[in-house]
Amino acid sequence: MELFHGPTIAFKDMALSILPHLMITAARKNQVKEEIVILTATSGDTGKAALAGFAEVEGTKIIVFYPKDGVSPIQQKQMVTQKGANTFVVGINGNFDQAQTGVKQMFSNQALAEEMASRGYRFSSANSINIGRLVPQVAYYVYAYGQLAGQGEISVGEPINVVVPTGNFGNILAAYYAKQMGIPIARLICASNENKVLYDFFGTGTYDKNREFILTSSPSMDILVSSNLERLIYQIAGQDDEKNRRLMAALSEQGNYQISPEMKAQLSDFYGNFAGEEETAVRIRELFEKEDYLIDPHTAVASCVYEKYRKDSGDSVKTVIVSTASPYKFTRSVMNAIDGSLQEQSDFALADELEKRSKVKVPKAVEEIRDAEILHKTVCETDEMEQTVREFLGL
Ligand SMILES: *Cc1c(COP(=O)(O)O)cnc(C)c1O
Repeated sequence: MELFHGPTIAFKDMALSILPHLMITAARKNQVKEEIVILTATSGDTGKAALAGFAEVEGTKIIVFYPKDGVSPIQQKQMVTQKGANTFVVGINGNFDQAQTGVKQMFSNQALAEEMASRGYRFSSANSINIGRLVPQVAYYVYAYGQLAGQGEISVGEPINVVVPTGNFGNILAAYYAKQMGIPIARLICASNENKVLYDFFGTGTYDKNREFILTSSPSMDILVSSNLERLIYQIAGQDDEKNRRLMAALSEQGNYQISPEMKAQLSDFYGNFAGEEETAVRIRELFEKEDYLIDPHTAVASCVYEKYRKDSGDSVKTVIVSTASPYKFTRSVMNAIDGSLQEQSDFALADELEKRSKVKVPKAVEEIRDAEILHKTVCETDEMEQTVREFLGL
């Protein structure tokens, strides 16, 4: 299921093109008068998709912080060429965790919130902790099922499996919600990269973020705290918010928690596994050579995990593999996987090379930034993030 044909060639486009409109409608219904200021830290994909979604949406401003040397050149160019008077993009001299921490500090800064309110502003988030990100994603699982039935691949009512390359646990949770709403999904297959916290969790019932953070070729899945897992924990805790709160408190205080056997028993529809860097690259190359089909590293992780699932289970139920990004967004990793001899070339040159070999046209999202003017040049230190926001808002 290729979910990357939106304006920024990431699956996040689907929800982020709808979220701004859900948000301003909700704000109006609740008589919120302030202008909404979206603050986002990004490791690459969320930033651009959120910028594109909120650009020129009346009653909103959006400020995106990204690690200046921590995103791919194409991702950076996508962000710094963003048009729209209500958009702000800042590179920080730090990593994604520092960007995220800085944003979280601003969200919980009471004095800043009061000052914002007195000027007619209020903060909100475009990350997938916002339920407005999850709700639209349910739709494509329903649609996929309808398509399979309509094409005669399955009969109506026949179960399918889904495989989801997972980071913050938003996309796979939307599949779980689709299942709760009646779509016959049998197994929810959770694919991780070498940051395999979720694989360990589904296997042992213990969630433990105390481990090394590994940078991989699927950066949108380089996550140690999958925020939306909390929503699943709440469900399997029998919607007991106290129990849920205690587990999450343990996670922030000691970095881990363990669920009870009764809770774990409710996770039997989930299967977790992971793929290493080498097998991910091999998967991209093999699929291209055998099937003439080019996938990005996130999708390749999912594809590897599906192979492992089939071997483990012998299950041959029809399965939808979710494809979350265009291979053109990660041209260097993809090109390296199929031919390692072109490492000297720029990412745009590599995109042209990929087009030649795959005969899939370079997407418009990449073409239009190739020579686009750079509109955002602000760079700051990690301890200057609040000051930068103040300057943008004239506080
Ligand atoms: C965000 C992202 C993911 C992870 O999705 P979650 O909803 O956070 O689990 C996977 N692949 C790509 C390309 C992404 O941008």
